[in-house]
Amino acid sequence: MSNQNRMKAVNAVAELHRGKPMAAAPVNLDSYAEDVFNTDCMREYLSKSVCKKLLATITKGEALDPAIADDVAHAIKHWALERGATHYTHWFQPLTGSTAEKHDAFLEPEGAKAIMSFSGKNLIVGEPDASSFPSGGLRSTFEARGYTAWDPTSPAFIKRHENGATLCIPTAFCSYTGEALDKKTPLLRSMQALSISTKRLMKCFGLPEERVTITLGPEQEYFLIDKHFYLQRPDLVQTGRTVFGATPPKHQQLEDHYFGSIKGRILAFMTEVEQELWKLGIPAKTRHNEVAPAQFELAPMFEELNLACDHNMLVMEVLRQVADRHGLVCLLHEKPFAGINGSGKHNNWSVSYGNKNLLNPGNDPHQNAIFLSVLSAIIEAVDLHADMLRASVTGAGNDHRLGANEAPPAIISMYLGDQLADVIDQLEKGTPTSSRQPGAMKIGADTLPPLPRDATDRNRTSPFAFTGNKFEFRAPGSSQSCSGPNTILNTIVAEAFDRMSEVLEKLKKSEFNAGLQKHLQGIIKAHKRIIFNGDGYTDAWTKEAKKRGLPNAKTTMDALRCLTKPENVAVLEKYGVYNQRELESRFEVFLEEYHRRIRIEGEIALEIANSIIAPAVAAEYGKAANALSAAQATKLTAGAGTVKATATALGKGLDDLNKNCAALKKALGGMHEEILAAMTDLRGTVDSLEQLVADESWPLPKYREMLFIY
Ligand code: ADP
Ligand code: MG
Repeated sequence: MSNQNRMKAVNAVAELHRGKPMAAAPVNLDSYAEDVFNTDCMREYLSKSVCKKLLATITKGEALDPAIADDVAHAIKHWALERGATHYTHWFQPLTGSTAEKHDAFLEPEGAKAIMSFSGKNLIVGEPDASSFPSGGLRSTFEARGYTAWDPTSPAFIKRHENGATLCIPTAFCSYTGEALDKKTPLLRSMQALSISTKRLMKCFGLPEERVTITLGPEQEYFLIDKHFYLQRPDLVQTGRTVFGATPPKHQQLEDHYFGSIKGRILAFMTEVEQELWKLGIPAKTRHNEVAPAQFELAPMFEELNLACDHNMLVMEVLRQVADRHGLVCLLHEKPFAGINGSGKHNNWSVSYGNKNLLNPGNDPHQNAIFLSVLSAIIEAVDLHADMLRASVTGAGNDHRLGANEAPPAIISMYLGDQLADVIDQLEKGTPTSSRQPGAMKIGADTLPPLPRDATDRNRTSPFAFTGNKFEFRAPGSSQSCSGPNTILNTIVAEAFDRMSEVLEKLKKSEFNAGLQKHLQGIIKAHKRIIFNGDGYTDAWTKEAKKRGLPNAKTTMDALRCLTKPENVAVLEKYGVYNQRELESRFEVFLEEYHRRIRIEGEIALEIANSIIAPAVAAEYGKAANALSAAQATKLTAGAGTVKATATALGKGLDDLNKNCAALKKALGGMHEEILAAMTDLRGTVDSLEQLVADESWPLPKYREMLFIY
């Protein structure tokens, strides 16, 4: 009976794609960013003087002149109405990790008629009833109101649905006492901190003041499965991951999926995703099959960090929505399927000064000196605050990747590639004053050997890799917002830049190069333990890292504790990124979310085991028992032993199942470790029963179906 559902699902997938006609979508460059109120729109819809003021706010970070708010609101409304929008929303990013929106119609009744209205105040502030967002005690319910404040540095955009459209205004979300209730506010604060510190450091190198741009290109991994299967997996529906499922004989070991030719159905999905993203001005650029079966990746061109973070939130939303239209489900969970790769979000990060990427080695001694200084500062920052970087990527889902011998490990280390590691080595050896030793490098005099970009990194096991002109932080999980990790990264690099500036500012011009070299040597000596160019998955590395004193926080619980350590609080407070209360609130919110997620997983596992698996196994056992008595009645000897063995194995499985369920039920009254351990035991039993029970009687779609039939 249950198998009929499974087979129906398989057949439905097959039916769906029989002889579908192909229609090539014409490329339409005009539609790029057509749903974004960008600078072109500003020039078109605003008067020259208002436009100039608004652009000054956006590009130079000048405070917004309240006098222009009404004009800007009017222009945006006009633009949005022309595109069919009837509603607007302040779009924000609460601590749940997703985005939030509450729509208001432009409509305003006037007597018997109505007009469409949108004021400067509507644009600048909103007051969502925020009492149900997690705030970790920052906003006790009697002062429940939080407010949203327009972020003019991320352009307004239009979200379309089947029969309408909504104007979305990116906003920050704060309490009335000014505390950040969201993920965007700390990010913006950290960007400002890094911008100031970068300017200070560049001044030490005699450069005139320029604009600092932090850049991010987040690569997004995801799984796609057919909706027919999804709907028959209550674990996926409720938690985004399978809590049961035996690994099929063939999964990813033949390495035939990675970069393989993309199936038609998936390509059609990807094409529509890209069309949607391009309309939103999101430069989706790369698409490919990933390592695991049914796993894929989308990478945009890098953009300014705040915008890139907003865009990544939209990418995740568009992936889910378009999948739905294609009869697919996009799984953004970090570990939807056991036994095969999980999904991450590679966070490609860099800093530009004017139009120069500071992580580009460049080709003269002066530029090389800047590059090596920036690189050394980042080495110092990552070593000093590896624990905070780890804490910035915690979550029940990501624990399955980071803590579980998977890409990348929970130990934060840095990969520089052989050439650059060699350069760092030479830099450490080089004495700036004495004459040259072989293989030593003198700052300000030597040029770097060319670092071929391709060779810099194919080490996929490193959580923090230099990849030619940027750092790639690979630990963030596929479902996570980019804001958290980049907030930490910006802040710790700002601190390291400042520490370097303090030294350099005291140097006379004549002693600058020698002083700089000495400082960089000091950094390298003190922090080179964080550099590791080997295989990060091995036990040998775990041991070696321990010897080096590098932290290894395997679970969210372990990792989050560091958020309240005084030295960490001190640096985040110093740079105005989080105050102590904001940090404590995050600690509380993330910990609670972690526990809730695990409890939900435990409860759904128990429910599935009791109400779906156990009845199927009992029925199977009944059949086997009947077969056994039939065999015994015939007094045949051949076969009877086998029938008996099968019945016995099923009976034992049923007993184990019962025992494991009772244990999980008990564990659900306790701590998360107990729940996780009981779930692992239960899974062991269920997954071996999956291989014992007749295929036609197994009630849940199997991995070999979900991952291979689409
Ligand atoms: P990979 O080999 O890891 O796939 P790619 O060269 O394709 O590397 O780049 C991955 C991502 O890094 C892309 O989103 C790309 O735009 C981004 N990227 C490239 N340069 C920078 C930079 N200077 N700052 C931030 N991200 C960058
Ligand atoms: Mg990459």
